[in-house]
Amino acid sequence: MIRFLLLAILFIMVARAFWKLMDSVIEGSRGTPPGRRGQTPPVKLVRDPVCGTYVPPRPALSVTASGTTQYFCSERCLKEYRERG
Ligand SMILES: [Zn+2]
Repeated sequence: MIRFLLLAILFIMVARAFWKLMDSVIEGSRGTPPGRRGQTPPVKLVRDPVCGTYVPPRPALSVTASGTTQYFCSERCLKEYRERG
């Protein structure tokens, strides 16, 4: 009986992991609809003007000039942008 219970628990765990994986695969292929679950808030990506990479905005890697804020993927891009003026 205990063996059966353990098998049942194992099966449930595997099934849950499997569906979680499937969910992330499906969501990854068509993008996360906003506010569908409320677990992971959608992060608005911004474009790094130096290298063109889309990055989540980080205050530590940003420059505000004439009302607009630019975000960068790394210190290097930030430095390059500053040097360019
Ligand atoms: Zn960059």
